[in-house]
Order: sequence, then structure tokens, then C-alpha cells
Amino acid sequence: MSHVMNTYARLPVAFVRGEGVWLWDESGKKYLDALAGIAVNTLGYGHPKLAKAIGECLASGVTHTSNLFNIPMQEAAADRIAEITGLDEVFFCNSGCEANEAAIKVARLYGHKRGVERPEIIVFEHAFHGRTLATLSATGSRKVQAGFEPLVAGFVRVPLDDLDAVRAVAAHNRNVVAVLIEPIQGEGGINVPRMEYLRGLKEICGRNEWLLMTDEVQCGLGRTGQWFVYQHAGISPDVVSLAKGLGGGVAVGACVTGNRAKGVFSPGKHGSTFGGNPLACAAVVATLDTMKEEKLLENAAKVGRVIRDGLHEGLSGTAGFVEVRGLGLMIGVELDRPCGDIVTMSLERGLVLNVTADSVIRLVPPLVMSEAEGRQLVNLLVSVVKEFLARPAAAAPMAKAG
Ligand SMILES: *Cc1c(COP(=O)(O)O)cnc(C)c1O
Repeated sequence: MSHVMNTYARLPVAFVRGEGVWLWDESGKKYLDALAGIAVNTLGYGHPKLAKAIGECLASGVTHTSNLFNIPMQEAAADRIAEITGLDEVFFCNSGCEANEAAIKVARLYGHKRGVERPEIIVFEHAFHGRTLATLSATGSRKVQAGFEPLVAGFVRVPLDDLDAVRAVAAHNRNVVAVLIEPIQGEGGINVPRMEYLRGLKEICGRNEWLLMTDEVQCGLGRTGQWFVYQHAGISPDVVSLAKGLGGGVAVGACVTGNRAKGVFSPGKHGSTFGGNPLACAAVVATLDTMKEEKLLENAAKVGRVIRDGLHEGLSGTAGFVEVRGLGLMIGVELDRPCGDIVTMSLERGLVLNVTADSVIRLVPPLVMSEAEGRQLVNLLVSVVKEFLARPAAAAPMAKAG
């Protein structure tokens, strides 16, 4: 019997070796990876620059010192994050939910400083912000919340891509101090709002002196072809949450502030024992520098287009196929039925991916994927999806969402 707590329905595969976008399991079987450990392994597997940076940190003997002292590597990581976000201050933590917890605390403190006694934050249907109590309360999925009531108060939910819904809240709710949005929803099914919508949101936030807080934990850090999705919209938010891809596979998150949110926190207001230690920050510096050197943003845009076009061409006209959507290497393929079985069918053929929102195949591969590997992915996935959709509906067992 396993002593690991039963919180995941695991697939019966263990990867023991990786190189680029390729993984090998214990039996030596090779897989093409279109998941990157859920949008984490930006540089793929076994990248020599990341291995070197982590190795040097380990060899120095100082992987952790605590935030009671100066940490030069944390300064270096913060400089890089400030440069790519266009914002000013970086709080380091260890995960996406912690980055969002920090953002929520920034919003509340910002509100209290402005004399709002019960600050509220606008959040969205189908959003995912994490599994801690505050972030699951901000999440727009009953499945994530069920059983953990009472939820944390102070969130007002609206539909995505509907500015009138936000204006309606602005008109009657004096307690709102911020908007928290995933500029592209990941877990919710790769839902891409109109970029005019994000600009409209920025405008409403500006008019009401609300913070615009973007959760770029999944969609950010180069995956869509820009460092951040808000850059596609040409706007600058006040707070940005980062994690997943930030350390190329090392656990690290960040809450980044600027504009109206600059200077909200002061010593004693927030903290994290592990946050921003030399090991994690060495990984951040190596990951971001390598992304620049190897032009991985351009690559994500180019290979993403190849994959989306290829899937569209290969699947359009197939009964049961709804659409391909996304930006760069954040891609969703929606079918008209629950399709959790696609995950195991793909694994059998040596393709790693996952399914979210019941009926959306999610592709978030490492950003080092080449065009040729992108075409291999398209060929494998088109044949799996066609086989899946050709099965008689009655024979298809009810799929479980990933
Ligand atoms: C994964 C994710 C989170 C939570 O990150 P953890 O590291 O699992 O806590 C938060 N927001 C978004 C958009 C995510 O995709």
C-alpha cells in the first residue's frame, strides 16, 4: 500500500529520463511531451544551462539562507522579472496559489489603506487560482470548492469577456478594490478573452482606482509568444502572479507589483520561509536568460501556429470536433463530449497530454519544441482524436476530467 496521500488519480506511468521534449518511462518506452509537467518545464528536460546553474548553487553549499539576510541571486532574479514584466517589485514564494494569496493580500491592504473596510475582488466564472482556502474561493469551479465551505468572503464573480457585467458591479458595489483575472484561462478550458476586453478591463480599473491583477501562472512566461498575455493587449497591470514555468521545473512563484500596487507591502506584512532562496532563484535566472538566448518566445509563437493550423486542418469536418483555440504553445482542442480517455489512448501511443474542463484536450508543451516535433504531435493527436470520435458513443465510458 502506498503511503502517499490519496489526492490524485495517477496514471500508471513513471518517467525516469528526459531530453528536450522527450520522456522515457521505466520500461524504456519513449514519449513526446505536450504537457511539460502542466506548463512548468519551459526549457524541456535536461537543459544543460539549467543543470549548470543549479549545480553551481548546490556546489556553493548555500541553497537556502532565509530572508533574514540579503540574497544576491534573489536580487538578480527580481531584476529580470522587473524587466520582463515592466513592473517594480517582486515577492518570491514557492507556488502559484501562494503568488495569488500574496496578490489577494495586496488588494486587501490596498483597500484598507483607502478606507474600504470590507474590500472585495472581482473574479471570473471558470477561473482557476489554486487550492488554498482564499484561492479556491476565488476559483470559479464548484468542484474545487465543494466540501471546504465556509469559503473565504470578499469575492464577486462575473462572466468572462463581458465588460457590462463588470460595469454593473462598479455601479453599485463601493467595496470593490481589485479585479483578479487569468488573461487566458488554463484549467477552465483554454478560454481566450478578446484583447479589447482586457483593455476595457484596464480602463474600468483605472477609472475606479481598482487594482488590475493578472494571474499569469499558467499562460505567462513566454508560452503565448509574448512574456505575458497582457502584453498582447498592450496594457500594464498592477499585480501579476507567476509560478509554473518560472523556475523551469524548480518550485518557485512570484507576486509582482507596480503601478497602483507599488509599495503596498512593508516589512512584517507578508513572508515565506523558502521564498526566493538561492536555489530557486538560480533556476529563475537560468530559465529566463536561456529563454532570451534561445529566442523561445518567437519559437512558441511559430511552433504554436504550426500545431494549431495542423490540428485545424487535420480535424475540421470530423464529427465531434468543435474547435482548436489558444495562443502560442497554450492550445486547447475542444470536442463535443467528455474525452478523458484521450489521455490514456495518447499515452499508449507515446504522447503525453491532458484533458481539462471535461472536453478540452490541453497542449502546453515545453517551449523548446521544434516545428518538426510540433508536426509529430499533430499527426499523433489527429489520429488519436479521430479514433476516439469514431467509437460508438455508448461504448465510450464516461470520462473523468484531468
Ligand atoms: C496552476 C495554477 C495555479 C496554482 O498553482 P500551484 O503552483 O498549483 O499552487 C494558479 N493559477 C493558475 C492560472 C494556474 O494555472
